[in-house]
Amino acid sequence: MTEPLHALDEAKRFAGEISVRVLRAGWFRPDAGGFFGVVPQPLWSRFVETDERGRILCRLNLLLIDAGDKRILVETGTGVRMTDRARDFKGVEGGDPAAAMRAVGVDPASIDFVVLTHLHYDHAGGMVDASGRPAFLNARYVVQRDEAEAAHGDELRHAGIMEVEQLDAVRAAGQLAEVNGEVELVPGVRVMRTGGHTRGSQAVLIGLDRPGGRAGDPTDRAVFWGDLIPTRWQIPVRWTSAYDDYPIDAIEVRNELVARAAAERWWCYFTHDPGPLPIRIEATEKGNFRPAE
Ligand SMILES: [Zn+2]
Repeated sequence: MTEPLHALDEAKRFAGEISVRVLRAGWFRPDAGGFFGVVPQPLWSRFVETDERGRILCRLNLLLIDAGDKRILVETGTGVRMTDRARDFKGVEGGDPAAAMRAVGVDPASIDFVVLTHLHYDHAGGMVDASGRPAFLNARYVVQRDEAEAAHGDELRHAGIMEVEQLDAVRAAGQLAEVNGEVELVPGVRVMRTGGHTRGSQAVLIGLDRPGGRAGDPTDRAVFWGDLIPTRWQIPVRWTSAYDDYPIDAIEVRNELVARAAAERWWCYFTHDPGPLPIRIEATEKGNFRPAE
């Protein structure tokens, strides 16, 4: 691998005043069969290679958003509390959000909001530091209420999968902000519950598009999909993953949002994409979608 473990991409501006940077916080290697779910190998293997353990190389991409005088971190990576065995099995390198920030000269104490798209280990593991305390001391952690409830629910599928300890540590510190549905964090930056991947998965929408506010230019918007669309390879809306808890919901909401993203030329950020970001999406003649050329 020639790319550095930690890197901060150049900023892109939206709505004139909102700066967005991708913070590359390491790598992990999900099982290719699980990652592509129902999609047959002859289709996905055209554009992605597996290693000798059948895994694909993915990024842990975090987003740093500066809007007004507020700074927002989206996602926290795996953090540092995984066992060595789990790190090896999942092919994790890096994954510590605070270390990634310091490596590129960003102070973790400068974060005002931490948005968790959902509570799986590769997104929420870094909510806390090595000692189990919140890693971002001045931040409110934004989680959909449905997701927090699912983490504490009794569904067997979620057992051991959601980062419950991390969630509870942040709640005990008084830093948890549970939200419900679509909520504006600061002017021009909103979270939106999508469900699909998990019960309370949320995406982040950037740009001026507020009910009752300034309309803004629809092409001057960006979206961070979370694991609803983890990489550009999964833009075709029926390409759901085996890790999607609610695949029918995922297809419906992907179909609606991807069509909007293509029509309004939104810039797309992907949480596990190893390539340059952001990119745009375009419709194909057959009514599907693909990365824009
Ligand atoms: Zn993920």
